[in-house]
Amino acid sequence: MLPHAADLIGTEHRLGAHNYKPLDVVLARGEGVYVWDTEGNRYLDCLSAYSAVNQGHCHPKVLEAMVSQASKLTLTSRAFRNDQLAPFYEELAALTGSHKILPMNSGAEAVESAIKTVRKWGYEVRGVPENQAEIIVCSDNFHGRTITIVSFSTDPDARGGFGPFTPGFRTVPFGDAAALEAAITPNTVAVLLEPIQGEAGVVIPPAGYLRRVRDLCTERNVVMILDEIQTGLGRTGKLLAEEHEGVEADVTLIGKALSGGFYPVSAVLSNSEVLGVLKPGQHGSTFGGNPLACAVARAAMRVLVEEGMIDNAAAQGAYFLDQLGAIRSNVIREARGRGLMLAVELHPEAGGARRYCEALRARGVLAKDTHDHTIRIAPPLVITREQVDWALEQFDAVLTGTAVP
Ligand SMILES: *Cc1c(COP(=O)(O)O)cnc(C)c1O
Repeated sequence: MLPHAADLIGTEHRLGAHNYKPLDVVLARGEGVYVWDTEGNRYLDCLSAYSAVNQGHCHPKVLEAMVSQASKLTLTSRAFRNDQLAPFYEELAALTGSHKILPMNSGAEAVESAIKTVRKWGYEVRGVPENQAEIIVCSDNFHGRTITIVSFSTDPDARGGFGPFTPGFRTVPFGDAAALEAAITPNTVAVLLEPIQGEAGVVIPPAGYLRRVRDLCTERNVVMILDEIQTGLGRTGKLLAEEHEGVEADVTLIGKALSGGFYPVSAVLSNSEVLGVLKPGQHGSTFGGNPLACAVARAAMRVLVEEGMIDNAAAQGAYFLDQLGAIRSNVIREARGRGLMLAVELHPEAGGARRYCEALRARGVLAKDTHDHTIRIAPPLVITREQVDWALEQFDAVLTGTAVP
């Protein structure tokens, strides 16, 4: 490592809060599926900033939209209107079929906004007694990092030391529709879940689960909120992961790739009248719905569709998973995934996924370990068959042992 990179890492360590433990690779440039470090080494990005860069790094059309809008108008606040918000609504509604949209910035803000909204809906529309609203969530969930969101996390690292917590949540095991049904009370206003749990290690629920949750929510007049911040916008080979089971959530949360990685843009999408309960002054965000965000998101959505990225995710993802499954290695417990949301879970005896990620990094692949024994693989959706084949060679070398220290 050149002194420059070591200096940057040292400075980060000295001045930055230590709330991350990144691989020691200092990236300086990105294009498509590739990123380059300060020494000019090229890597194939198999994380895509946790699926925020589905469109590939520095996509030229999104960049063009960003630069062009930045030179015209960036922020008005919602005290005034801007000429990008309406077309953003129109294009997002056309893409997703939603009827109402609330624009926010980070994913956590979209989750928080949905929680606020369904509580209000519960009191005003469902007649739940004041302050009694309950929301059912799933174990091993990941929905963000705010106090309310970590209040219903089951991860000790996410929660520990951060109390007191926000009440009003009930946790049921992910993938267990019977447990969810049993947890519904007259005060249940919503169920909040991820269609596939990403941070938990790409955990796919049993077939039929989302359909059953959908039916339960309809029967019991409970709002179904799907957090598609990571699974959405093509990652799993469909625009939204809910499509794999032919269901439609009442409220869908998107973020991450909504801006192609240029800028934090998130949104609450509603298919019911849930968002209708918000009146002026009851919710907002200085940056939410700003013209720069809207222009960037419009371009990011457009290239996703125009350049066939969703179908490519389905095709390359199926091939990638098939080939990962064919690697003969005694450290692999399971290869799983949907579309380009993939994971290789290792046997505990393998000594943890981190060192495999270090070994992959040495071979030019950046992937992320999660929950000790799982390597998460989520390249940009523009990846080609040749690039998948090259990545597979590196995974094969590392997972068959010879390349790991
Ligand atoms: C990343 C993520 C969030 C939080 O998004 P931020 O932009 O980091 O606040 C919420 N839900 C899911 C499923 C995520 O993957």
